[in-house]
Amino acid sequence: MPLSKVIIVGAGPSGLLLALLLAKAGIPVDLLEQATGLDNNPRASHYTAESCIEFERAGILDEVCAQGFIPDGVSWRRLDQDKTIMVAVRNTPGPGGHSMVCLPLHRLGMILERKVLKQDNARIFYGYKVVDIGRPEEEGKAWVKVERKGTEDEGGGVTEVREADYVVGCDGANSTIRRRLFGDDVFPGYTWDEQIVATNVYYDYLGSCGYDDSQFFVHPEHWHMVARIQTDGLYRVTYGEVGGLTYDQLKERQPAKFQAFLPGNPTPDKYKLVNFSPYKVHQRCVDKMRVGRYILAADAAHLCNPFGGMGLTGGIADVGSLYESLVGIHTGQADDSILDVYDEVRRRIWATIINPISTDNMRRLFQYSDPDEAMEKDSFFRMIKEMQERPAGAEAATKPGLPSLRYDMTQHFR
Ligand SMILES: Cc1cc2nc3c(=O)[nH]c(=O)nc-3n(C[C@H](O)[C@H](O)[C@H](O)COP(=O)(O)OP(=O)(O)OC[C@H]3O[C@@H](n4cnc5c(N)ncnc54)[C@H](O)[C@@H]3O)c2cc1C
Repeated sequence: MPLSKVIIVGAGPSGLLLALLLAKAGIPVDLLEQATGLDNNPRASHYTAESCIEFERAGILDEVCAQGFIPDGVSWRRLDQDKTIMVAVRNTPGPGGHSMVCLPLHRLGMILERKVLKQDNARIFYGYKVVDIGRPEEEGKAWVKVERKGTEDEGGGVTEVREADYVVGCDGANSTIRRRLFGDDVFPGYTWDEQIVATNVYYDYLGSCGYDDSQFFVHPEHWHMVARIQTDGLYRVTYGEVGGLTYDQLKERQPAKFQAFLPGNPTPDKYKLVNFSPYKVHQRCVDKMRVGRYILAADAAHLCNPFGGMGLTGGIADVGSLYESLVGIHTGQADDSILDVYDEVRRRIWATIINPISTDNMRRLFQYSDPDEAMEKDSFFRMIKEMQERPAGAEAATKPGLPSLRYDMTQHFR
C-alpha cells in the first residue's frame, strides 16, 4: 500500500535531503526540527563525488556547484619553515564523473530547505522538539511526541502526538530517536582522547603563501588542517587539542595555536576569526539502524572524526539507500523487509570502510614523532609517494579510489 506519511526528525543535511527525495517521489513528509532555523556552526564543507550523485538525483547539484567551488586537491605537509609538501593528490573526477565540491554546510542547508519548501507534499515544522516515540513492537503506525517552542499564541508549550507509517531519526549525534530505542548511554564505540577545534577565519596571507585549497599538517602537537571553503577567502582551520580542556581554556589557547602553526605566525590583529567551535570526536555506530517502524540515518546512527570528510558522506549514502527502500515499499516493488537489508548494509559499510579509513585519516596526523617516520611507516603515504614516482606521475598523484559508500537498494526489489 502506498505510504501515507513519513516523519523525519531533524532538519540537518541528511533530514532535508531525505525529505526532498521522498517528496519528489510522491511520499508525503513532515520534517520536525527542534531549533527555530538551520544550524550555522562550522561543520561539513567538502562533499565527495558519491555525494554529488545524490545531489544530482535531488536536483540540487547545479546550485551546489554554482554556490561552491571545485577544490584543486589536497596535500599533506611538514610544519617546517617552508611547509614542505610530503605527498599531494589532485581532485580528479570520481564516480558519476563528478569531482569533490566544497560548500559550507549551512549554505547547503539553505539550498535544500528552499527546495523542500517548494514541494506540495513536504512541510518543515521548526520549533518542534521530539521528546518521545512509540514502542517499536506496537502494531499499526509509528508516532512521536513533540513539544512546541514559542509563545502561547504561537502554540508554544503545547505537547502533541504525530503519526506516520515510518519515523526516521535524522536528529544527529545526540539523537532522541536513538536514545528512546536503545537507552541514553547506548552508542557502541569510543570517544578519542584528543579533541578538535574547528574555526572559520579570514587571513589574507593564506591565499598567497603557496597553499593548496586543502592541506593537512603532520605534527605530534600542532596537527591541523587548513582548507579554503569559500571563494571570498574564508578558510576552515581545524586543529587538534589535548582532551579535558574547557571551552574557555580552548578559547584562551587559540591565539597561541594559530601563531605557532599558521604561515607568517600571525597575531590576532592579522586575521578575522568568524567561528570557533570545539568538538569531541567519536567513532560510534548503533547495533541496529531499524527497529520496527523507527529508522536511523547519518549521525543519529554513526559517527566518525571529520578528517577526510567521511561523516556526512556516509550519511548521504544512508539517505540514498533509505530513499530507495521507502520508494520500493511505497510503489509495491519491495516489502518492509527491505529495511532490514538497509540496516545490515549501512552498518557493514560503516564498520568495514568508514570507521577504519577515517580512524587512519586522523591518527596519521599526530601519531608519528616526525614526518620522516610517517613517510616511512604509513602505508597511505607510501602508496601516494609510489604513485607520484611512477614515470608518468606528475607533481601530484591522482586520488586513489575509495571503496564505494553507496549501495543500490533497487537490486532487492521484486
Ligand atoms: C568540524 C567538522 C567538520 C566536518 N567536515 C565534514 C566534511 O567536510 N564532510 C563530511 O562529509 N562531513 C563532515 N563533518 C560531519 C558532518 O558535519 C556531519 O556528519 C553532518 O552534519 C551530520 O548531519 P545530520 O543531518 O546527520 O545531523 P545534524 O547536522 O546534526 O542535524 C541534526 C538535526 O536534528 C535536530 N534535532 C536533534 N534532536 C532533535 C529532536 N529531539 N527533535 C527535533 N529535532 C532534533 C538538530 O537540531 C539538527 O538540526 C564534519 C563535522 C565536523 C564537526
